[in-house]
Amino acid sequence: MCGVFGLYAPDRDVARLTYFGLFALQHRGQESAGIATGDGVKMQVSRAMGHVADAFTPETLTSLPGHLAIGHTRYSTAGESRLENAQPMLIDCAHGQIAVAHNGNIVNARELRDELVRDGSIFQTSSDTEVVLHLYAKSKAPSVEEALIESVQQVSGAFSLALLTKNRLIAARDPHGFRPLALGRLGDAWIVCSETCALDLIGATYVRDIEPGEVLVISEGGLRSSHPFPKSPLAHCVFEHVYFARPDSYVFGRSVNEVRTALGQHLAMEAPVEADVVVPIPDSGVCAAIGYAERAKLPLQMGLIRNHYIGRTFIQPQQSIRHFNVRVKLNPVRSILEGKRVILLDDSIVRGTTSRTIVKMVRAAGAREVHLRISCPPTVSPCFYGVDTPSRSELIAATHTAEEIRKYVEADSLSYLSLNGLKSAVGGEQASYCTSCYTGVYPVAFPRDEQAYLQLALKALD
Ligand code: SF4
Repeated sequence: MCGVFGLYAPDRDVARLTYFGLFALQHRGQESAGIATGDGVKMQVSRAMGHVADAFTPETLTSLPGHLAIGHTRYSTAGESRLENAQPMLIDCAHGQIAVAHNGNIVNARELRDELVRDGSIFQTSSDTEVVLHLYAKSKAPSVEEALIESVQQVSGAFSLALLTKNRLIAARDPHGFRPLALGRLGDAWIVCSETCALDLIGATYVRDIEPGEVLVISEGGLRSSHPFPKSPLAHCVFEHVYFARPDSYVFGRSVNEVRTALGQHLAMEAPVEADVVVPIPDSGVCAAIGYAERAKLPLQMGLIRNHYIGRTFIQPQQSIRHFNVRVKLNPVRSILEGKRVILLDDSIVRGTTSRTIVKMVRAAGAREVHLRISCPPTVSPCFYGVDTPSRSELIAATHTAEEIRKYVEADSLSYLSLNGLKSAVGGEQASYCTSCYTGVYPVAFPRDEQAYLQLALKALD
């Protein structure tokens, strides 16, 4: 997952506005951050590992002049976590300079890359995004826009892109619409961003979503929209609503908070249990817990407190502290939990180890019973469209029944939201969502090795 932001804003400090936009998108990627700007003549980029607040100084922002900018926060799903793979990537080629910021995962990147290398391309990074730049650089199309369209037409999978040339901001979204991409307005300025919370922070208003399959060019001449892809079935990532997007954002036309609360309400109807209190696992379980508590007519209490100030690397204790890795992030509130029958609300169980530790912690804080409720179906398959889920063999629900998982996490009961419950909660046109990580049915086919991997994994499961 990643956050992308783009800005066309004559007479504004684009680097600083982009910095704030990225700040609002920090949850979408914490490995690295970068900003590229253009002033109509030349472009420049600044990228660094770490959080947005650490990646830029006031001096760095001052060194990024112009009236156009794109920015990126990265969470690697394809390519290692190192500075070369940080975005935006900026190149100079026959069509001039171009910078790209990408959210998603190009599933045929390996094939395209092998072909490009055979034809003499030299890659600087291990990121799938660089493939788009090489295709663009190689294109013989007569104009920048045609070259760009020609290159994105060759990639398949998930991409929400913000691209910058010296005088244009370009937004492109794959025809399935896997990842969100919104268009906003601030006075004369145009903004594109992964989530609408970035518009709120800079005082911009939401105009519409960039449509699946749309390429939108923003320049001095205004907005020019085209739809150069064949019509494809929609596959909005339902996991954006379950977990990834911020609850104050609107994605795929719906409030994330409303959807997440509805997930909890459906779960309460599907999996009621006698209990005294509903406790969310913060932060991502909070909205669903509110919905569950409302529908179950039970009190909601913050029985687990999250420490928000953990950096990527912290000094490990020399002596072993029980449950240290989870406890450093979450601490139980004994006065809420002691003697209670507790419903713990979370958004997913991946490997099961964290859930097991949390259940143990809640019990150790005096809870009489612990009932685990998960606001989505069991995660049985990995994601190949831009979410960093582990391989099938590491997903506990791929190889264990709900009862086996309940025993492993040592809960008194465990229930997941059904697939129908999930689809009802997201509402709208239900067929327009990707639910592959809960079904193992993938809307975009995989080439070669991923497919082989998947078949092997399925075989192991038989
Ligand atoms: S597989 Fe899951 S996480 Fe990946 S795009 Fe589909 S719904 Fe989203």
